[in-house]
Amino acid sequence: MALKLYNTLTGSLEDFQPLLADKVKMFVCGPTVYDYAHIGNAKTYTQFDLVARILSYLGYNVTYLQNITDIDDKIINRATERGIDPTELAEEYEEYYLADMKSLNNESVSKYARAHDYIPQIVSQVKRLLDQDFAYKISDGYYFDIKAFADYGKLSGRSSLKPDDSVSRIDENPEKKNSGDFCLWKFRKEGEPFWPSDLGEGRPGWHIEDTAITETEFGPQYDIHGGAVDLIFPHHEAEIAQMESISGLKPFVRYWLHTGFLNIDSAKMSKSKDNFLTIRDVFKKGFPPLSLRYLFLLSHYRTPVNFTWEALEAAQNAYKKLKDFVSKGTSDIGVVDEAYKAKFKEKLENDLNTPQALAVLWTLVKDKDVTLENKLATILDFDQVLGLGLLS
Ligand code: AMP
Repeated sequence: MALKLYNTLTGSLEDFQPLLADKVKMFVCGPTVYDYAHIGNAKTYTQFDLVARILSYLGYNVTYLQNITDIDDKIINRATERGIDPTELAEEYEEYYLADMKSLNNESVSKYARAHDYIPQIVSQVKRLLDQDFAYKISDGYYFDIKAFADYGKLSGRSSLKPDDSVSRIDENPEKKNSGDFCLWKFRKEGEPFWPSDLGEGRPGWHIEDTAITETEFGPQYDIHGGAVDLIFPHHEAEIAQMESISGLKPFVRYWLHTGFLNIDSAKMSKSKDNFLTIRDVFKKGFPPLSLRYLFLLSHYRTPVNFTWEALEAAQNAYKKLKDFVSKGTSDIGVVDEAYKAKFKEKLENDLNTPQALAVLWTLVKDKDVTLENKLATILDFDQVLGLGLLS
């Protein structure tokens, strides 16, 4: 069976075919570094770490790029509250973020790209949009004219905001041509960071950071773009509008993958709602970091999950049981059981179904017809995907 992925752009399960035979370029929207990452963020990043691992396991050569939003209103506001420089705040929280990802074994990112390192490329993109009349200037900056891009809405099926969208980040100004137009370059304001440029002194809007980064690193078209469902609109819609307008090439991205939310008491966990638990809150309660990873493996990446401590405890118990099984095994490691490996791969090839792949592993553990040595070899092979550190 070939790998099949659910593509938000077409709303269907499709055979996966990267642009270049066995090489896959994947970009996932990274964090805005102004606070600790919460366990909803952890779900999304763990599940994309699994996507990268699965692709590698299936024989693809994966380049996984993630941006770090280190210029943003939220960073500036938080830095002002704390009376420190926004750069200092961003660096502090980037360090915490990377440490948290490491503790969850999310280590497949090939490159982290910081927005502030791509200012010339951002300016170049805005200028090319202006040259082709996709952008215009008003009193506080340059904006994208969504009416100039006929395909606006093709990913999300809409062109206006809904309450559950990620922070709108389109910027409001009564001079805008259309209410959904979003800012590309914001003119300098007192007390805010700015960069000199042909566009005037200022700083980038949020959406243009990502397309400038991916055009630089991948070119105008690539294979997979990910994030949670809250980013479909307006963020990912804006990215398509920007890049397809600049290059004239379609599709900008072939496969759009979106993770389901981690909810708490049936509401989306988010920093703005103040109903969140940080990754560190969970570790402080004594849960081993990889039990959180195990919890995320138990749900298909597109399925929303309601977080409860009971569910985490059950994941912890299962994880410990598996770890004990491996560590109490013999020192001899046998050979991979090819029949189980084929079943495991089959589950992953079906839109990356990790819960079913994990079920294959547990069937193997209980199978009396497979030797202990071969079970261990097979489980350790599977752990290249699961990332549960079963050998350590
Ligand atoms: P943010 O730092 O808020 O921009 O979010 C970073 C990543 O986590 C983005 O891909 C979001 O879509 C994702 N995300 C935010 N909240 C949740 C949640 N409750 N469940 C799953 N993913 C989330």
